[in-house]
Amino acid sequence: MSAEKRMDLERLKTLIRDVPDFPKKGIMFKDITPLLKDGSALRFACDQLAAGFKGKQIDQVVGIESRGFIFSPVLAYRMSAGFVPVRKKGKLPSAKETVSYSLEYGEDTLEVHRDAITKGTHVLIVDDLLATGGTAEAVVRLVEKLGGTVVGLAFLVELKFLKGRERLKNYQIHSLIQY
Ligand code: AMP
Repeated sequence: MSAEKRMDLERLKTLIRDVPDFPKKGIMFKDITPLLKDGSALRFACDQLAAGFKGKQIDQVVGIESRGFIFSPVLAYRMSAGFVPVRKKGKLPSAKETVSYSLEYGEDTLEVHRDAITKGTHVLIVDDLLATGGTAEAVVRLVEKLGGTVVGLAFLVELKFLKGRERLKNYQIHSLIQY
C-alpha cells in the first residue's frame, strides 16, 4: 500500500502540534508545520479539503493571509479555479475593499482588490483554522460586498468549542480535524 493510502484523518491529527501560551499566555496554538513537512500528509490534506466541494462550481478560491495562503492556491489549481488573496491592511497595491472585525482585544482589518471578484462569481473561502469564526465571517462579508457567491468555507482545523460554525450557519463548512 502506498504511503498516501495509509494516511488517514487520525494520522493527520497526530501531525498537529499543540504549543501552549503562543503567541500569548492562555492560547493553545495549533502548529501545522509538522503536517506541512510530511509529503503524503500535505497531499492527503489538500485532496480531502477539495473533496468536500466535489461537483460544485468554484470559480475562485479566496485565501486568508497568512496560513490560508498555504492551502488555497493548491485547491485553486486542483479545481481549475483562480486564486484571490485576502490580505492584512496596507499590503495590496491597487484599489481595494476593506472590512474591519473585532478580535479578543481590539480590531483587525482585511482587504481585497476591488476587481478581484465580480458579481456572480462562485467563491470558496480557505483558511488553516476556524476558531471563533470572526475572521471567516469578515471575509464572507468582503466577498459578498463585491457580489461574489460564497459556495462554502474550508479549514484544515476547527476548534469546535469556540462555535465558529454558528456564526457561519448559512454556509457549507468543511473541516478535516476537529478539537
Ligand atoms: P477566528 O477569527 O477566531 O476564527 O480565528 C481564526 C484565525 O486565527 C485563523 O487565521 C487562524 O490561523 C488563527 N488562529 C486562531 N486561533 C488559533 C490557534 N489556537 N492556533 C492557531 N491559529 C489560530
